[in-house]
Amino acid sequence: MIPLVDLKTQHLSLKNEIDGAISKVIENTAFIMGENVEGFEKEFADFCNAKYAVATASGTAALQLLMHTYGIKPGDEIITVPNTFIATTEMITQIGAKIKFVDVEPDTMLMDVSKLKEAITDKTKAILPVHLYGHMVDMKPLMEIAEEKNLFVIEDSCQAHGAEYNGKRTPITSAAFSFFPAKNLGAYGDAGCVVTNDEEMAEKAAMFRDHGRKKGEKYIHTFEGTGQRMDAMQAAILRAKLKHLEEWNDSRRRNAKLYNELLTGVSKPVERDYAKHVYYMYVIRSQKRDELQKYLKENDIQTGIHYPVPLHMQPAYNYLGIKEGTFPEAERAVKEILSIPMYPELTEEHVRIVADKINEIK
Ligand SMILES: *Cc1c(COP(=O)(O)O)cnc(C)c1O
Repeated sequence: MIPLVDLKTQHLSLKNEIDGAISKVIENTAFIMGENVEGFEKEFADFCNAKYAVATASGTAALQLLMHTYGIKPGDEIITVPNTFIATTEMITQIGAKIKFVDVEPDTMLMDVSKLKEAITDKTKAILPVHLYGHMVDMKPLMEIAEEKNLFVIEDSCQAHGAEYNGKRTPITSAAFSFFPAKNLGAYGDAGCVVTNDEEMAEKAAMFRDHGRKKGEKYIHTFEGTGQRMDAMQAAILRAKLKHLEEWNDSRRRNAKLYNELLTGVSKPVERDYAKHVYYMYVIRSQKRDELQKYLKENDIQTGIHYPVPLHMQPAYNYLGIKEGTFPEAERAVKEILSIPMYPELTEEHVRIVADKINEIK
């Protein structure tokens, strides 16, 4: 069987280092925050070429922290896309703000920045681009619009560790990252991070995740926050793995390049001139998607659909009253997309087998 992702092979390659890191955390009995969390924050900020990182309990928590630190309030509107994981929008609603969707570009399936202006109202507070599958949104025109309209920009970089825009890594502003196990950098449980260049944002986010406390002030709560810290065990594991992230992303890109060369008869992922894609997912498109998925399954090749139902068609968002047909590109994409095996340890031999099988369906 060729899996969609393979976490086991990666673990075995680092087993001794990870076992050692875990044992040390247990010996020191410092399970929350502490030197591993601080060390990881510094190292991950460096990886992003950014100044500050604030480690959190999950990517969802990182998005929540950003909503709070940017002071998003009930009644505010946040613009994002319908083809993403629901964590992107949950935190908008849960702070009392309103979700506003724009459609995506037909080829990259990323936020269509040319549609932003018509979605902006006098209630709009922020734009929330999602760097889906590991490819960044067209940030230059997006930032120009944000500046002109005086809007915050919150990046959902949960699938984009190390992704670049004109040589610059995300975040361009402030971003939420996820270390869900299958992500390009994955913890052994839930974990996430806020990354930003804004010192005040970083400080506020760090306090918010820890019950509104300043570092070292155990019993003084400056404001009411939440308990969304990263635990030391995850930080120790992530530090061991982070050293390999650069080479893992290179391997993903090498596998993508080979797929690009071999695949025929399906649409392949687009990499814009401005972008360095890190291929969290390698997503093809086909008019015969369901037939293709079935055929691959029969041939022991695992695939996935990310995501099969656009958010505006989800039961959770019935209340928004958005009709089918409102976001034609996102709706068309969900019928055609197929995520095929992609992970750093995927061998050239397996890429060739997968590509051969896909090419057999015409
Ligand atoms: C994974 C993911 C999240 C949420 O991350 P968790 O760590 O699972 O909370 C949010 N947005 C996107 C686009 C994601 O892929």
